[in-house]
Amino acid sequence: MGELVLAADLGGTNLRMAAVGPSGEIAERVRRSTPHSDDPMVIVDAIGEMATEIQAAVGAKRLTLAIGVAAPVIMDARNGSVYKAPNLPAINGFNFAGELSKKLGLRVILENDATAAAIGEHWLGAARNVENAICVTLGTGVGGGIILSGQPLRGPDGTAGEIGHICVEPNGHPCGCGSWGCLEQYSSAMAVVRIARELTEEKDRSWPGGMTAEKLYEAAKAGDDIAIEAFRRLGYYLGIVLASLINVVDPDMIVLAGGLSGGWDVFIDETCGQIAKRAFRLPALRAKLVRAELGDDAGILGVARLALETPDQGLLES
Ligand SMILES: [Zn+2]
Repeated sequence: MGELVLAADLGGTNLRMAAVGPSGEIAERVRRSTPHSDDPMVIVDAIGEMATEIQAAVGAKRLTLAIGVAAPVIMDARNGSVYKAPNLPAINGFNFAGELSKKLGLRVILENDATAAAIGEHWLGAARNVENAICVTLGTGVGGGIILSGQPLRGPDGTAGEIGHICVEPNGHPCGCGSWGCLEQYSSAMAVVRIARELTEEKDRSWPGGMTAEKLYEAAKAGDDIAIEAFRRLGYYLGIVLASLINVVDPDMIVLAGGLSGGWDVFIDETCGQIAKRAFRLPALRAKLVRAELGDDAGILGVARLALETPDQGLLES
């Protein structure tokens, strides 16, 4: 019986896979660009090829019969089918876990990527030994994962923890989820660029070259007033949501993950100011606000943990 599990992170841009041991050690890893096609089986086939590569590298006997897959999806945890995948429309409504299981002959544990990151950070990262943690992933969008009493909060449908879709402006910018004014439309990389563009137009200014969150971060550090204001708004809306979450969940820790968390020096003061103004004093004092520690590996390690917890009893019958 093998001691390694396969773990994959299916992103909108990159597809990564690793063989992971019982303590989270990564024995082998492969990556490729996420294939974009109308046919969801193209993604299933790519994952199959990568699993074969890893099997060849580490030896099939060292692998258990389970694979964890983190994906940017709202899914039905009861049957592993995808309810909504805004960045991977090909797998909308697709029975992803079922088809992948058939293809690979393995048990497939599909998990929302932000929940997977929360599980990873709780296992081996910033939230180690923490009972109650909220993980907010600030990337292209805003993801959320909640650990309560050491366990991930999923809800009966598997859709719990969608912090990015908490409404902060009732009549605000339309969101990919179908609602308006969600946090994701104000506190993500995509949002900070849109807001900076809007401010540039309002002030009748021009911006040299393409605008990205990274360039805006550099501009904010250099004192550009538009970039500073775009990040202040990001921090403002994030603080409003974190204050509400502190009041509702009473967490020991809030972990900020994702690419934007690396630049938190340009928005965290505003976030903390909003928390101080709005949250109940006692839980706000308790909740430690920290940056994630596992970087890009949080999701892979999170689903590896789930796969390691899955009994190695062969294939699903259904
Ligand atoms: Zn939304």
